[in-house]
Amino acid sequence: MKLVSFMADGRISCGAVVSGGIVDLGRQPGRRAETLREAVEGLTLAELNEAASRSPDLRRDQVRLLPPVPGRIICVGMNYREHALEVGTVPDVPVVFLRTVESLVGHEAPLMRPRLSSDMDFEGELAVVIGRGGRNIPRERALDHVFGYCCFNDGSIRDYQFKHSLTVGKNFAATGAVGPWIVTADETGDPSGLVLVTRVSGEEMQRSGIDDLIFDVPSIIAYLSAIMAIQPGDVIATGTPSGVGFARKPPRWLKPGDVVEVEISRVGTLRNPVLDEGHDSGAPA
Ligand code: ZN
Repeated sequence: MKLVSFMADGRISCGAVVSGGIVDLGRQPGRRAETLREAVEGLTLAELNEAASRSPDLRRDQVRLLPPVPGRIICVGMNYREHALEVGTVPDVPVVFLRTVESLVGHEAPLMRPRLSSDMDFEGELAVVIGRGGRNIPRERALDHVFGYCCFNDGSIRDYQFKHSLTVGKNFAATGAVGPWIVTADETGDPSGLVLVTRVSGEEMQRSGIDDLIFDVPSIIAYLSAIMAIQPGDVIATGTPSGVGFARKPPRWLKPGDVVEVEISRVGTLRNPVLDEGHDSGAPA
């Protein structure tokens, strides 16, 4: 089952992707979910699958997909050996930071190269969506807490990341992406069997099995839940493999006209064009 968050006719809702379009979970008879968070937390997989067996309410071209983010966004950095070495050294604990949802766009929406920097980079990643929260979750039971998975581009403004802080380098408006949907875990199986590929304007930049993670998905959930309660809807980006733009010689910065694709087997392909950020009118966004 593929769950989306979308805008249609000026209204935000969530839905299930079916052949021919989208079933609107905010309008269905019986148990509804107005938001992705309600769908993840409030509906059972059986209820979601039942909704997904109905005929679509909307065609795909009638909706604009939004970031399928039902909760917080927690990122793990330097989690593939070769990438850790292209940045610095291999960490012996997970490197965790946070992103705001405003720093992310949905499938097909443009990534915005900021006015302050041209050092804009891509990071293809697998993101995990938590279905059941908890604290001190043992590694062996961690996958029971996973609702599903999505593709994630942890887009980064490298000069700000290295000269200012990790937090600002990762939180420029509309510099990352997530989507196109959340695929439920029953469709992917164990995430270690998935393969991730990132392409920029058709050229393959990154390719890795998720089994190359230094801290695998169960270990990340065990680590985080020992620190704080993980919550239904939390999105955990698991880190990017080697091949990012800044580590190339010469660097391959994203520029207007580029298209970034993050493809993960059994999950889907997240695709976003790159544009220059427009001039700020001074009005609130
Ligand atoms: Zn990352």
